[in-house]
Amino acid sequence: MSASFREHIVKIMEITQTEKAADILQTSRKTIALTGAGVSTESGIPDFRSAGGLWSRYDPYEYGTIHAFKRDPEKVWQMLAELMKIADAKPNAGHRVMARLEEKGLLKGVITQNIDMLHQKAGSHNVVEFHGAVKTLTCLSCGKQYPNTFVTPENMPPRCMDCESIIKPDVVFFDEQIPNDSLFGAEELMADADVILVAGTSCQVAPASYIPQRLYEQGGRIIELNLEPALEAIASVTLAGGFSEQMEKLERQLH
Ligand SMILES: [Zn+2]
Repeated sequence: MSASFREHIVKIMEITQTEKAADILQTSRKTIALTGAGVSTESGIPDFRSAGGLWSRYDPYEYGTIHAFKRDPEKVWQMLAELMKIADAKPNAGHRVMARLEEKGLLKGVITQNIDMLHQKAGSHNVVEFHGAVKTLTCLSCGKQYPNTFVTPENMPPRCMDCESIIKPDVVFFDEQIPNDSLFGAEELMADADVILVAGTSCQVAPASYIPQRLYEQGGRIIELNLEPALEAIASVTLAGGFSEQMEKLERQLH
């Protein structure tokens, strides 16, 4: 087979996968999405778990647990200061396509493992933040809440104005439970959903990992969009490639 012929075949197969995904979206009863770190890398946020990511520089056991925060909040804020910079990131084209799908009624909501608020910034309304977000901070001593703009390089680590305790961003640490609101929100989205678009996550980490599996078991279909597909065994369609590129391709197939 000549190289150009092979390229041609690969192109046709790609179109077919995209067309198939578009068809599923347009004929589904209720489509939801599950997103992870891979949808934010094009916005300049490296996957925390990747080489060079946050957890390659900060030991998650020493910096990523509520236990560590309570023991030594000043130390954990060395990591958090970096984490909070995510609040300045801008959504990418893929986030914007997702928001438009919601606007068109083709997507009922997004469950995200990301804490960067990029789906909302792009215009998505129904977003369940499984792991919290860098939007607000709370004083663990008195419960007073602060907006992320309260944190500046000059007031590190930021302290509560009422009780002087060091405050904590409302993100879920490794040893913390998923907030009840998020669990209920995810349950509500999953109920009677028949299609899930899984993007930018290999679904290795519980409890978000059980979501596509459960939908599959209740007879739902999975559209996987990943740079390195991981769900081929249960996915009806696999869109292998970058988030924005694949989302834009998918949008072009809709009529
Ligand atoms: Zn306080």
